[in-house]
Amino acid sequence: YSIIDREQMQGLENIRAFLKIRTSYDVLPLSFRLIVLDTDLLIRKSLTILIQNSIVSAPLWDSHNSTFAGLLTSTDFINVIQYYCQYPDRLHDIDQFRLSGLREIEKAIGAQPLETISVHPMKPLYEACLEMLKTRARRIPLVDIDDETGREMVVSVITQYRILKFIAVNNEHNTVMLKKSVREIGLGTYTNLQTARMSDTVLDVIHVMVEHNISAVPIVDDNNRVLNVFEAVDVIPCIKGGVYDDLQSSIGEALSKRAEDFPGIYTCGEDDRLDSIFDTVRKSRVHRLIVIDDDSRLRGMISLSDILKYVLLFGEENDAISPDAV
Ligand code: ADP
Repeated sequence: YSIIDREQMQGLENIRAFLKIRTSYDVLPLSFRLIVLDTDLLIRKSLTILIQNSIVSAPLWDSHNSTFAGLLTSTDFINVIQYYCQYPDRLHDIDQFRLSGLREIEKAIGAQPLETISVHPMKPLYEACLEMLKTRARRIPLVDIDDETGREMVVSVITQYRILKFIAVNNEHNTVMLKKSVREIGLGTYTNLQTARMSDTVLDVIHVMVEHNISAVPIVDDNNRVLNVFEAVDVIPCIKGGVYDDLQSSIGEALSKRAEDFPGIYTCGEDDRLDSIFDTVRKSRVHRLIVIDDDSRLRGMISLSDILKYVLLFGEENDAISPDAV
């Protein structure tokens, strides 16, 4: 049990203490826009709105009951695609589906209903993070009650990315204490990695994502060298305007449709330390890190949830040496 271990644990504990005294409100920028979609909107139109506004998700509002109706995410579109695969002759129906019909689609394909969880914005951020890890949600809507009307009010949505960025920006003195390497702390997934080739169809890759419950698939060449990553959000431009033909096109073609402001993919090595990963999060819009070796060959995947889980839970309960035991 070395000094590095002790410092690492101290850094983690300081970050956890920080998350317990901050709320989700603190993560929000001073001014922001929030696009909320009415559940009466056609699914096809919602796609266009997301694309036009360069967003990949939006809270839903049921205006008949004046209630928050969950979050629209790329998973919903993947469900629609699965529905289309099971009932290709119902393309006309799909064209008429409204966002309120998404739950029916879930049921028809036997998908696990998405939990419509939300957190109160004044709750400690630590609790919002735990809730995210428990439910595997990548983003959580902040829902408050309006004092005057007593009605639900969607304040904003926080993502794992925003939270890690918030930690990185406000805890530089703590993240520098995280000197252990990705390899040493076993951060990420290194076995049973799901990959695809440039020539695979979009549909093939969507099936892999659904089957393994993952939101990204690295695209590799014959030598397992990483060429790109196909992400769940990349399906959105593929079914733009209700056209499902593009699902048969290759990943290579689909990736060429990425928006111009696509943040790029981020890689790291197994010897990189957690502090350098936080540097990357501080500086860039990272959604996951692809772990590669010196030859760019795929070694592993580190998702934001892997990082969040480690930061919040490592050493809790009984899976590690408690600092008191030193
Ligand atoms: P998140 O939950 O943050 O959106 P993912 O869905 O990408 O992240 O990852 C969920 C889990 O699956 C993580 O533990 C991650 O390490 C692992 N994982 C991510 N991509 C792959 C992949 N292509 N093959 C195998 N496991 C993966």
